[in-house]
Amino acid sequence: MTQHPFVVNVGTLRRQPGASLRERREGPIPELAVTGSSVPEGRPVVVEVLLESVHGGIMATGAVSAPWAGECRRCLAVARGELRTSVRELFEPGGDPEQTYPLRGDQLDLEPLARDAVLLELPQVPLCTEGCLGLCPVCGINHNEASCSCQTESIDPRWAPLDALKGGEPRR
Ligand SMILES: [Zn+2]
Ligand SMILES: [Zn+2]
Repeated sequence: MTQHPFVVNVGTLRRQPGASLRERREGPIPELAVTGSSVPEGRPVVVEVLLESVHGGIMATGAVSAPWAGECRRCLAVARGELRTSVRELFEPGGDPEQTYPLRGDQLDLEPLARDAVLLELPQVPLCTEGCLGLCPVCGINHNEASCSCQTESIDPRWAPLDALKGGEPRR
């Protein structure tokens, strides 16, 4: 049981159309990562759902939450957070795998649902804080920790590399 924390036995539920069951399951899910952030290895993903016996299968409605960590897009420091997303998915035997999740016998596995929900919700452009000041595009100093005298206000950061290039030319 501990090896499959997301597997729910829905045998009784399936034999009672209209009945429902509340489940809270948690456990680590390997390799939850997108460009920019990931769920730290071994940290638990939590699934809280209401399972309802509906015609043809089981409807799972609720939320998936997990901690995440990444690198701040602006200052490159560690960025962390907690994601939480709503889910409403149908589990059915022999259904279209593109549309629904499988139901094998009386076993309903919430892990694929949790995995898909987390992968969709992980931030691709994480920030350490909403108001992160980032790095100076000219000297590279971390503006969250110190200020510098570079004239960055008038410089569009996208042009900074170009300005550095121009400044270097006369010396060639
Ligand atoms: Zn930052
Ligand atoms: Zn600077």
